[in-house]
Amino acid sequence: MIPFDFDYCKAETIEEAVKAYAELKESKRAPLYYGGGTEIVTLCRKGQIYPGALIDIKSIPECRVLGIKGERAVFGSALVLSEIADSKVFPLLARTCRGIADRTVRNRLTLGGNVCGRLPYREAILPFLLCEGEALIAEEKSTHWVPLRAIFDKRLKLAPGELLVQMAVPKEALELPYSVVRKTKGGRIAYPIVTAAGVKAKGAIRIALSGAFGYPVLLDSTGGFKEDASAAGPFAELIEPFARSFISDVWASSDYRRLLTELSVAQIFEELGVRK
Ligand SMILES: Cc1cc2nc3c(=O)[nH]c(=O)nc-3n(C[C@H](O)[C@H](O)[C@H](O)COP(=O)(O)OP(=O)(O)OC[C@H]3O[C@@H](n4cnc5c(N)ncnc54)[C@H](O)[C@@H]3O)c2cc1C
Repeated sequence: MIPFDFDYCKAETIEEAVKAYAELKESKRAPLYYGGGTEIVTLCRKGQIYPGALIDIKSIPECRVLGIKGERAVFGSALVLSEIADSKVFPLLARTCRGIADRTVRNRLTLGGNVCGRLPYREAILPFLLCEGEALIAEEKSTHWVPLRAIFDKRLKLAPGELLVQMAVPKEALELPYSVVRKTKGGRIAYPIVTAAGVKAKGAIRIALSGAFGYPVLLDSTGGFKEDASAAGPFAELIEPFARSFISDVWASSDYRRLLTELSVAQIFEELGVRK
């Protein structure tokens, strides 16, 4: 049970959603955009948040888009992870989403909720980090595409009231060879100790990680590691800049996380055809 009252607004358009947010904020109702609601409901029940209004974005057509639009492959923020996992549009994203929770839960979790939520994993963002992704952001005055590298630093930096409408990658990215390695403790559907995803593009390997640190990371934002033996190893060197950032929790110590991360990165290099 949620032990307090709140308003529920169902937005049918982007404009309705951002306008409702601005008005509700103005009247001190502490609004939140509402996707699958799993995180919001849990935090309300635990007494960790007290939104006065929830703005449901699932009926906004732009937030439900899935497919190729011009030069981009586009994914609406209100798509649930099982819709993305079942689609054949972006195999790397589908594979990453299939790793998150079980099917019943994926039927509820939205792409926007995963990327904007408080949990540190946000695994669905890894393919977008790897493939020069962009985010379509709406605010009161405009709706515009922004490169992820400009607004992602540990998390998506959205200003209050900004709505994540869609995420996209260039359509050429859909064909890139990829590999995903997900290590958990206590079964396949547990939170990741580390999820490593990699793509091979223009003779370079790019790797992105979730679970190892308290936030998702693109290991090399300058274009990836060159496809030759010297650059490919030792794998420990690739993660050395983050050596002090490995988290330690009830599932894994920082040393164990580091070991699993090195093994996962090595496996990705091997699967993408780079010699050790
Ligand atoms: C059982 C379970 C297992 C899980 N396992 C994993 C896992 O293995 N890996 C992983 O990465 N995650 C995992 N998650 C985390 C899950 O993806 C996040 O908690 C996510 O927030 C839930 O999505 P939602 O649509 O229910 O979010 P909501 O509760 O609707 O929203 C979460 C937050 O995001 C904001 N938000 C939502 N949509 C938008 C938008 N379009 N624009 C701006 N802000 C928005 C909301 O205002 C809220 O602050 C798991 C969750 C559960 C319940």
